[in-house]
Amino acid sequence: MADRPRFGPAGTPLVFKKLKSPIEDMPRFLHDEGLDAFEYQATRWGPKPQMKKENAEKLRVNAKTHDVWLTVHGSYFINFCGVEETIEKSKNRLIACVTAADWMGAHTVVFHPGFYGKKSPKKALDICIEAMKAVVERIKALGIMGVKLGPETMGKLSQFGNLDEILTLCDEVDLTEPTIDWAHIHARERSKLKTTDDFRKVLDEIEKRLGTDTMRKLHCHYTPVEFTEKGEKRHHTMDEVGYGPDFKCLASLIAELGLRPVVISESPILDVDSQKMRDIVLEELQKVS
Ligand SMILES: [Zn+2]
Repeated sequence: MADRPRFGPAGTPLVFKKLKSPIEDMPRFLHDEGLDAFEYQATRWGPKPQMKKENAEKLRVNAKTHDVWLTVHGSYFINFCGVEETIEKSKNRLIACVTAADWMGAHTVVFHPGFYGKKSPKKALDICIEAMKAVVERIKALGIMGVKLGPETMGKLSQFGNLDEILTLCDEVDLTEPTIDWAHIHARERSKLKTTDDFRKVLDEIEKRLGTDTMRKLHCHYTPVEFTEKGEKRHHTMDEVGYGPDFKCLASLIAELGLRPVVISESPILDVDSQKMRDIVLEELQKVS
């Protein structure tokens, strides 16, 4: 469990890109920015890890030295609700991400479970559970102990993964914990999160279904989001007016309930908005101390 609320970017910040440094230098860079989490993006990966084991291990050492909590965002090319061939390929892609996550000492592999296609939500859920159970068996057979699967709440209505579905997956499948993407929940249910109590209801539901421990140590994604009737459309920065959900609502609950989430910024200005989120939570923590 994260020892405190932690903050960091989903992938490489712009300034880091300009430095042209190897990925292993990321933990020191983030530490210098006052951040303490990083979600490595394996979003374009196929059936094999597209990173050298040696580099992943350097990242692990540096993350430990600079106190950065690592996670991996798994391949976008996963669909556990598709046809059998797609599901088999998806399993291999997720296993590749889990293998590299193990090398780098990452705690969770976040992933998008799939698309309903022509399937009913119930059928999609059933085959997704079955596929994830098979992946977990393989993870265990590989002797990987420290990496969890983190199915994410999804922002488009065509995507499998409303809050209820994600919580059901986590309840049914071993070695799984939810990734709560607040922007996606907000966009999917078109402006669901307007007040602190709207956030509180989501936390209550998670606690009821998966227990207090899981609710207190959530892996989260956050960005202000624009949406249409189909759900998520575009991410925005914290400074752009008019896009929810309001991070202050979540921050006030983190302080009030003493939560220890890992909050990954998916804003267009990744690390800059991570720092903003951190500062808002610190402010809220001061109010309750
Ligand atoms: Zn995602």
